[in-house]
Amino acid sequence: MRQSQLFLNTLREVPAEADVASHQLMLRAGLVRQLTAGVYSYLPLGYRVLNKVESIVREEINETGAQEVLLPTIQPEDLWIRSGRTYDYGDDMFRFKDRHDRASILGPTHEEVVTMLVHNEVKSYRQLPQVLYQIQTKFRDEARPRAGLLRGREFRMKDAYSFETDVEALDKTYRAMYDAYCRIFERIGVKYKAVEADAGAIGGKGGTHEFMVLSDAGEDTIAVCTSCEYAANLEKASTNPLPVPDTTTELSPETVPTPGTKSIEDLTSYLGAEPAQIIKVVVYEADGQAVAVCLRGDHQVNEVKLKNVLGASHVELASAQVVLEKTGCQVGFVPPTVDIPVLFDRDIVTVTDGVMASREQDTHDIHVVPGRDFEVKRVEDLRDVADGDTCMYCKAPLKFQRGIEVGHVFKLGDKYSKAFNATYLDEAGKAQTILMGCYGLGTSRLLPAIIEQCHDDEGIIWPIAVAPFHVHIIPVSVKDEEQMGTASDLYRRLTAAGIEVLLDDRNERPGVKFKDSDLLGLPVRLTVGRKIVDGQVELKTRKNGQVDVLSVEEAYEAILRIVK
Ligand code: ATP
Ligand code: MG
Repeated sequence: MRQSQLFLNTLREVPAEADVASHQLMLRAGLVRQLTAGVYSYLPLGYRVLNKVESIVREEINETGAQEVLLPTIQPEDLWIRSGRTYDYGDDMFRFKDRHDRASILGPTHEEVVTMLVHNEVKSYRQLPQVLYQIQTKFRDEARPRAGLLRGREFRMKDAYSFETDVEALDKTYRAMYDAYCRIFERIGVKYKAVEADAGAIGGKGGTHEFMVLSDAGEDTIAVCTSCEYAANLEKASTNPLPVPDTTTELSPETVPTPGTKSIEDLTSYLGAEPAQIIKVVVYEADGQAVAVCLRGDHQVNEVKLKNVLGASHVELASAQVVLEKTGCQVGFVPPTVDIPVLFDRDIVTVTDGVMASREQDTHDIHVVPGRDFEVKRVEDLRDVADGDTCMYCKAPLKFQRGIEVGHVFKLGDKYSKAFNATYLDEAGKAQTILMGCYGLGTSRLLPAIIEQCHDDEGIIWPIAVAPFHVHIIPVSVKDEEQMGTASDLYRRLTAAGIEVLLDDRNERPGVKFKDSDLLGLPVRLTVGRKIVDGQVELKTRKNGQVDVLSVEEAYEAILRIVK
């Protein structure tokens, strides 16, 4: 491609709306443009990268034996009522009425549609197993679209669905998909980690793993064992219960004034206590019902664990008004003896000389011992793992990393096949429910995820497998016949050899061209400048900045070697 003809407009300034590096770079390098919140146009360079990512995904998923289909974007809402997920997805779903007033949605995912399809098509065990997949645009009206393609409201996903007759077959497909994902991320050239995850709104009781591209820009926190293979999303991560000290305070509880202490910090500095001594009570609304969680002041409630323990569809922090209504106490002054259901985190019993709210505002009780001074009834693991926690398998310390979730594999079991009565006749002619798995991979999210890992201050550093072009040829002066002649000649030869070349044939100052070239981040840059009078050109590797001065032929050969 000749750059003078390319639909590309690079930006010098960092766009004000972008605070994440990949988002800034995608805009500056002219890969995408925003139309409206979370909705983007892919420009030629961005679309080339997306297509390369999707080709790698397609090749590896095909390799597993899965078959590609294309399912509809428009779906009747009835299907979602049937699976019970209209409520789970809530406002994340784009809903509309068609001209006949039928409630419809734009597909955020396709479990319902594909299960219905299989219900209609599959009759006998002989037709199973089957794995169907598609690569398609998905729609989710995300509450907080963020960082360009990282969290869009319209985005691209590869979603696969497997249908099996037994658990062993499901395990096998799950493993095959897991391995295919590993190959995909290795081929692309990103550092990733597969972590244990929570099943969330997709549901299912079997295993589930998320694939995380490690990056500080990620919204997810992962707990990783410093010794063994254990890694889990913070939502799901467990640890060993903390050791319970042998002795507790012998002092009796005493009520003391604590005026204006709204937070744990206020309270600890006012009383000169440690956060781990505070007996904290946090009030939630779970499907509209008030419930309190009692845990140590230095621990955080894990809302996913809470939701799972309660079997609730939706859990949110209660507002100050709801707290007052349901408990008669102000936020920050709710004791664990309150008259709504209270769940206790299992580590609350490690408090040996604690501080808890007394019912009166602006006072707390000190020298409180859980179990001694109030009943500890419903004990569960309800908190996030934290610094100092240890691995459940090998007891080594856990450490924390940030990640971008780029893929998710689930064993669904019969959640959807039951709802849609997707059955088959077994060898004995008896109807059995099909087992399912589902396997999502965010192809558009991968673009910013790759850039987060692969960039420097000057711009993007594309891994060769997904770079929009392999080589950037830059004649320093397009007016110089020899320079332009050699550049054009190499452009033609390399293109003919199957190398993807961008030729910067613009009549621009060299500084402008080099700056743009660093920003676009093609893996190899070939500069044809004044040295051409000695038959020499310059080959620069974007990744490590290495520059080699070579003859034209050597440069041609080197490029073939690097790309092939
Ligand atoms: P998240 O927790 O980030 O919202 P999710 O759990 O809702 O993700 P899934 O429903 O499992 O995601 O979708 C499969 C894959 O689709 C995800 O692993 C992710 O890569 C991608 N994905 C999900 N939501 C978005 C989005 N809003 N924008 C871009 N990619 C997305
Ligand atoms: Mg989501």
